Amino acid sequence: MKRILYPAFVFGLSAVLGGCSLFGWGGPKRAAWRSQAENQCLAAGEVRPSDDVRPIGEVDGPGACGADRPFKVTALGRDRRIPLNERTAMNCPLVAATDNWLERVVQPAAEAFFGQPVVGVEHMGTYSCRSIAGSRYMSEHAYMNAIDVSGFKLADGRTVRVKGGWRSADASEANFLRTVGGQACDDFTTVLGPASGAAHQDHLHLDLARHSKGRRVCRGGDEPVPDGGRLFSFFKDDTVFPADRADVTGSLPGEDGLEAPMNLLDK
Ligand SMILES: [Zn+2]
Repeated sequence: MKRILYPAFVFGLSAVLGGCSLFGWGGPKRAAWRSQAENQCLAAGEVRPSDDVRPIGEVDGPGACGADRPFKVTALGRDRRIPLNERTAMNCPLVAATDNWLERVVQPAAEAFFGQPVVGVEHMGTYSCRSIAGSRYMSEHAYMNAIDVSGFKLADGRTVRVKGGWRSADASEANFLRTVGGQACDDFTTVLGPASGAAHQDHLHLDLARHSKGRRVCRGGDEPVPDGGRLFSFFKDDTVFPADRADVTGSLPGEDGLEAPMNLLDK
């Protein structure tokens, strides 16, 4: 009997300790809109399962972390022709938004600045059950609802990375990155790049948070370009919330009803 009961006891004890120390009794639940967004995305056929985008079943916990119907993703874009440097877990809305951004903004910008398409995307992660650095507010990464894009592989084999490329003497690299970051806010609700603070010097953070009052946080490209540079003028100006405005009061939705102050977005 002891052998049979022991694992159950350990499981129960860790659930109690984990729940108590980290999340409170009973644990938090994911906000209802997250399931709704996933279901709407799937029902609309925005993401079609394939070898490169495979359903993996619910990921539930720890705490509120996870997603109801996530995918394991190895390639994005139309016809899944843009492989990722590492496979990763994403929810349906994140796959759809990233696909749209790659086709609508990234590929035209790559053709405009480099005369060739992007054939690969480097990222630094999508799923991480954690809070925003230095805060108690959960990151969208905790729900597979955010991706950190660090580089773009071009057809000739060269890779344009946020780190190095953002302030590169090569104006085409710097402006390509500002363009794809600056124009990402039509597809995502939070876009943070090097201009947004120290935490995003080597990647663009793109997520689908639901900010209060339908706000979007667009700090993917609003830093002045290096001397001699030019912004890709076919895309509209995106600057919505300049980082130096003291009157910006947007927030992140917290799972327990708390809302994170806007300045935490820089973490
Ligand atoms: Zn991120």
